[in-house]
Amino acid sequence: MSDVRNVIIIGSGPAGYTAALYTARASLKPLAFEGAVTAGGALMNTTDVENFPGFREGIMGPDLMDNMRAQAERFGAELIPDDVIEVDLTGDIKKVTDSAGTVHKAKAVIVATGSQHRKLGLPREDELSGRGVSWCATCDGFFFKNHDIAVIGGGDTALEEATFLSRFAKSVTVVHRRDSLRASKAMQERAFADPKIKFVWNSEVAEIHGDNKLSSLTLRSTKTGETSELPVTGLFIAIGHDPRTELFKDELDLDDEGYLRVDAPSTRTNVTGVFAAGDVVDHTYRQAITAAGTGCSAALDAERYLSALG
Ligand code: FAD
Repeated sequence: MSDVRNVIIIGSGPAGYTAALYTARASLKPLAFEGAVTAGGALMNTTDVENFPGFREGIMGPDLMDNMRAQAERFGAELIPDDVIEVDLTGDIKKVTDSAGTVHKAKAVIVATGSQHRKLGLPREDELSGRGVSWCATCDGFFFKNHDIAVIGGGDTALEEATFLSRFAKSVTVVHRRDSLRASKAMQERAFADPKIKFVWNSEVAEIHGDNKLSSLTLRSTKTGETSELPVTGLFIAIGHDPRTELFKDELDLDDEGYLRVDAPSTRTNVTGVFAAGDVVDHTYRQAITAAGTGCSAALDAERYLSALG
């Protein structure tokens, strides 16, 4: 059993690093797979983070993640910037395969692989991310005081973001591909009643413009193909998220939207000894602090599980 670890963590955002920190401080010598290209998680792609407690002046996303990483390492977490490509979680000894094909074994596994926001798939989208283009109104809305903003999407999230942003923005234009919304009636009524929110129906974004900062969008009618310009300095894309659960779909229970199911408020999945935390579980809050919080819970749940094994 000497090659069997106490715990392996898959994922390296706030949830994974917090789980690594807590399990390391509990002397469990965790091994964490951080991912090959996206180590550090979603905040590696952003600039200022102003809502993570403890940083009075805010902190750059990559700096926050470097700090979390270093803090976990300081207590002995072993962190590997590689992808897990296969898992076998059902037995008492869990098996996790890295990209070189090496199989790592552990008594417990914490899954913290996060989720990926859906993109429009347009050329300037990534380049202007953090420069007017955003996927999170709670995170970035505050930066858009008195801006003209477009929100793309027609579901609950899009309308929730639009309603939230109208507190700060000069105007909010919801651009939707169809002529009716998928959002709940209550959300629709609230948005329709908001004088700052207007709607552009049957339209999609064809182009994103701006040198260094977003300046406007070209919209294209989904009915006629006609194009028009929308001058905006904020673009919030709210067309959904995809949890990274492909690896687990044959082993762990997923909900209808593909998120991992846990026995809330614990982080236990349906498989004994496997815990899950962060955005891979959460379609409601999706914040760094909530991911870190559940990463802590998963570490404590794993620790208690391992103690009970003796
Ligand atoms: P993630 O941060 O998504 O990290 C998961 C990571 O796990 C992946 O990136 C990858 O490195 C790793 N991984 C995945 N699959 C594998 C695998 N098979 N093998 C190994 N590793 C794997 N929240 C805030 O609170 N404040 C903000 O200001 C803020 N700004 C944001 C700005 C942007 C542009 C984005 C996209 C999000 C922002 N968020 C913000 C949301 C926040 O980033 C997420 O809620 C948080 O990062 C989720 O943490 P997580 O640990 O669950 O997952």
